[in-house]
Order: sequence, then structure tokens, then C-alpha cells
Amino acid sequence: MPAVIYCPESAVVDGQVLRRPGFLVSESGVIHHMDNVDALREEFPGAVVERMDGALLMPGTVNGHSHGFQVLMRGMGEDWDFMTWRSQVLYPVSERLSVQEIYESARLAYWDMLRHGITAVADFFYLNDQGTENAMAIARAARDVGIRLLLARTFYDWDGAPARYRETPEAAHDHTLALAQRLREEHLTPWVTLQVAPHSPHGASEAMVESAVATARELNTHLHIHVAEGQYERDAMLKSQNLTPVQWCHRLGALGPRSLAVHAVWADEQDLDILRDTGTAVVHNPGSNMILGDGIAPVVSMLKRGIPVLLGTDGGCTNDRHSIFDDMRMAALLQKVRWTDSSVIDAAQVFSMGTAVGSRALGLNGGRLLPGEPFDAVTVKLDDPSLLPGPVTLGHLVYALADTAIQDVYVQGRRVIQQGHPTRFDPNPLIAWARQWQTAHRQ
Ligand SMILES: [Zn+2]
Repeated sequence: MPAVIYCPESAVVDGQVLRRPGFLVSESGVIHHMDNVDALREEFPGAVVERMDGALLMPGTVNGHSHGFQVLMRGMGEDWDFMTWRSQVLYPVSERLSVQEIYESARLAYWDMLRHGITAVADFFYLNDQGTENAMAIARAARDVGIRLLLARTFYDWDGAPARYRETPEAAHDHTLALAQRLREEHLTPWVTLQVAPHSPHGASEAMVESAVATARELNTHLHIHVAEGQYERDAMLKSQNLTPVQWCHRLGALGPRSLAVHAVWADEQDLDILRDTGTAVVHNPGSNMILGDGIAPVVSMLKRGIPVLLGTDGGCTNDRHSIFDDMRMAALLQKVRWTDSSVIDAAQVFSMGTAVGSRALGLNGGRLLPGEPFDAVTVKLDDPSLLPGPVTLGHLVYALADTAIQDVYVQGRRVIQQGHPTRFDPNPLIAWARQWQTAHRQ
């Protein structure tokens, strides 16, 4: 891949929309230099010049929480309450998926994410079958589609769930170490980064969370945990432990500067102080929280405390979109409604949650178009009706942009979506597979 000078009409750099900047991207897909285009051409005469007339360039968006395979359950059990959906849709479908189906479902979800401008995703994966084969399948799916993957391998032992989710704490530790080894051996790192994910206070016992904390330390990696998503969990924990879910996680050492608390909808003021004091980041999933009727996460209170808040789509059947643009919009609108104040959160804050803050909290580079960062980027068409009349601001990107405006997507300098179409695989067999799966399995 030769060095390239990209010349967009405008670009989002450090929260500002700049006119006619130039970006020199090295052979390895890293932004090497930023200047005006003429200066770059003079200084780097060997570089290929790629004009991006009529396009705005922005950092790729970062999906801080998802479950790729759940895309298959789109449309199944819509509008059911969570417990009914879990027992009649999630568990039966989970039990049936083969390793090949896990691979294909991940490709489907990741393609949908990429075409919505997501360049990195944390996939919280729990169909482990007491081993590493299925997780390797989603790692290969990410590589084959071209998305950057944080593979959050789940530690789960609640005995009400399908057997393939469950392990002993010792087995979860051993299999996670084996997975780290296999990812290295198959050269899937650094495209894929392993993280440790004790499921939740309701899905993982104390011993399981402690094993996950020790494993994350051993592997020197991040830790994800669902916490305080629904009221039921808070009520149950208070009753059985006399602790809130956040307090319980804290007691087990699961919170810290390399921890991500997913949801934190039912977090009170003291819980938020704990999250702040431990340096824990929160993954906010507004689309999923709304569809499941979870409630409104106290995002403004988190931001006031300086807690890093990033965004996640959650599973493809609990949003039901894979678009961080969409979740930026919903995150802002939800807080404005919650506080009956349109100035309580602004476009720049949610844009940053969906890009730079997300990257940093997940331990990635990127999320910003600056020298030294990987070229993970998205172009949007400035003549898309959703962005007219312009000039385009962060407000346009957060509140107005339709997905028809998303044009090209780059990960580490490779163009993985071109004019809305994937470049690394033929989507037609995948579409045919998805339709066939639907016919065979839909209840
Ligand atoms: Zn989740």
C-alpha cells in the first residue's frame, strides 16, 4: 500500500470542522502528517493523491458494546418483555448455532456496523462452549470483513442459562489464556484485541468475577461487565447482598481505570462517585436501553463527574440498528428529555463519546484524525439531502445525518467500504445465507 495524500473538502479534526485539510497516510495506514494539500504534495512527491471532492472526512465511530451473533434475532420477539424474550428467543437460538453460523452471523453484524461508519467494535461474546473455537470464528470474521475487534470473552456461570455459556472460574481463566495464545499464533493480533468480560452481577458468581479480574491482570488487558442495566438487578442485589450492583463489582475489584461498566442505568449518586473514584468508564447504550424499557442512564451526572462515557449499540436485536451515529443522536435526545433542557448536553460531547472517548476507553489508538493515529476514518457526502444546506457542523453529523450520506470507510488505511459496498468480501453469498438461516430457524 503506497503512502496516500487524502484531500477531502472538509474534515473533523479535534472537534473542529476544517476546510480543505490534507492528510498524509503512511504505507502502514497511520496518519503521518497533516497540512494543506499543496504543501504535502511538495514535501511528499512520491505519495498518491486521492481527491475526496464533495466529501467530509471524520474519524471512524467506535462501538463500545455489542453481541454480534444477536443480529440473527432481529424481528424475533419484538416488543416482548426482557425475561420472555430471553427464555423464548435468546436461549433457544443461542443453543442451536454452529461454529459456522457464529462466523457468518458475526460477518453480517460487522458488515452492517462498517457500513454505518463503525471502525472498531467491542463484541461481548458468550457462546464459548468451554473452549476457544467459537471465539476464534468471530475473530476471523472481523479480519475477513475488515473491522477492528475487541473480543470481550465472557466469564459466565449462572446455571439458568444454556450450558454453552457456562464454565467454572478455573476453566474460563484457562480458556481465555488459550485464546490469547491462539490469536497470536494465527496473527489475528493486533487486528483483534482480547478483553476479559465477567458477564454481570446476575450472570457471574463472585468467584467468577474474581477469576476474571485476575485474568485481566495476568493478560494486562481491559475488563468489561454489564452492570445495573435493569431495575430487577438492583432490587435483587440489594435484597441478597445489601449492596448495589456497582458496589458489588467494586468489592470484587472489577472497577478501575481499565474497566468498562456497561449500561449503569440504575446507578445512584453514590454509585457514580464510585465509578468516578475508581476511574471506570461507562458504556452507554441508549437505543438498547430504550427498546428494552430499561430506563434513562444518568449520563449528564456522569459527565459532570468527569466519568468517561462511550457509546454502544448493544446486540442487533435490542437496538435494532448498528449505528453509533444513531446512538449519538439518541444519547443527546434522551438527556434533553430527561432534564427538560435542550442545553444540558451538546453535539460535540456526544460526537466525542462516539469517537475519541470510545477509542481511549477501550485502550485503542484512533478516534481522532491527527498525526500518529491510525487512519480509521469515514467519508460522508456533503450533497446528501440530510446534510443540506450546510455548511456541515458537528450538529449536522449528530442530529441530521442519514446513513445514505455514509460513503467510504477506512480501517488502518484500508478502504473496507467503498461507495457503501464492502471491498473485502462478496456480500451476495452472505445475504443468501442469512435468508436461508431465517427460513430454517425462525420461530
Ligand atoms: Zn450487552
